[in-house]
Amino acid sequence: MASGAALARSTLKSTAAVVASRGAALTIEQLDLGEPAPGEISVRIAATGICRTDLHIRDGEYPIPDFPVVPGHEGAGVVTAVGSAVADVRVGDHVLLTYPFCGKCPNCVRGSMAYCEHGFELSFAGARLDGSSGWRLGDDGTRVNGHIFQQSSFASHTLATANSAVILDRDLPFSLAPGFGCGVSTGAGSVLNVMDLRPGSWLAILGAGTVGLAALMMARHLGVQQIIAVDTNPRRLETAGELGATHTVDASDREARGAIRRLTGRGADYIFDTTGHPGVVASALESLAMTGTVVMAGAAPVGTRTSLDMSSLLNGRAVRGTIQGDAEARKLVPHLIELYEQGRFPVDRLVSNYRFADIHRAIADMENGRVIKPVLQMTDDELS
Ligand SMILES: [Zn+2]
Ligand SMILES: [Zn+2]
Repeated sequence: MASGAALARSTLKSTAAVVASRGAALTIEQLDLGEPAPGEISVRIAATGICRTDLHIRDGEYPIPDFPVVPGHEGAGVVTAVGSAVADVRVGDHVLLTYPFCGKCPNCVRGSMAYCEHGFELSFAGARLDGSSGWRLGDDGTRVNGHIFQQSSFASHTLATANSAVILDRDLPFSLAPGFGCGVSTGAGSVLNVMDLRPGSWLAILGAGTVGLAALMMARHLGVQQIIAVDTNPRRLETAGELGATHTVDASDREARGAIRRLTGRGADYIFDTTGHPGVVASALESLAMTGTVVMAGAAPVGTRTSLDMSSLLNGRAVRGTIQGDAEARKLVPHLIELYEQGRFPVDRLVSNYRFADIHRAIADMENGRVIKPVLQMTDDELS
């Protein structure tokens, strides 16, 4: 109800990419956007990354209650308004929008916001936590689901929860800023926060996309000397080699499990799975050294199952998932930007820029592996 009242007071036009129905291609629409609710900010999006999760949302592989919906969760832009109860973000701030959290549940209170007990709902319900949506379409004001990750950033203007906004230095180009969002933070955070890599450790990274390459860059920064990158795309493996992978395995012509065993001798200490394929996770367990850990960051459709060899687990091995690399965005993102500026974390190597109107080409290029992290940039037309 609150959003309805806000909408009646003032609406803004937003040019947004909308999924009309499950599996449908995105269409660009003019939507009406209400005012920020308490704890929210309005943001003029300058650029947004596309993450594989957006495609899972498009395809209904996460249980979005209803379509149409506006995806997008790596938005960067300028704050144009702040709702009540927002103290730490101001109009005019440049921000990167990250993952949402409630700030009140036991996990949030102990600083573990990536595991907010409302995180799934905040990310995928297509609404605010109270069920309302600030998005409307057409003269009759048909409700549109938005608030994906509490930001729905495939839009020229959006609403976001203030606590998930990381304030950026004004000289960081918006064309690059989304590169520090969900995917890169997840990869880098997993290495920093979840793994305990030591001199002599072997790390195998399954999937050389955004998440895998970010993990690779962080592992190199930390001085890990033995890093195996596994993928089926030769171009991505080449990039992995340039970014510091000491070994690359093309899983399209070799069996990854055997290759990891041969290279490491005794198995890898950590295997970082970014693919989300159930078979890959099961075989990763068998490529581990004793007491090794499979860290899983790949997003599989909800309900995906795998089966594990129980005797493999007995050797002190573990399989462990992570959301957002366990990271607190307001700590990790500034750290990654600082490393980038020192030349130690070359995120620009992952990013390819597109105009917002070219969103279909950007998605196709990502899906067929031509580019790693597409970042859409809004033009003046979309922002007018
Ligand atoms: Zn919470
Ligand atoms: Zn993501």
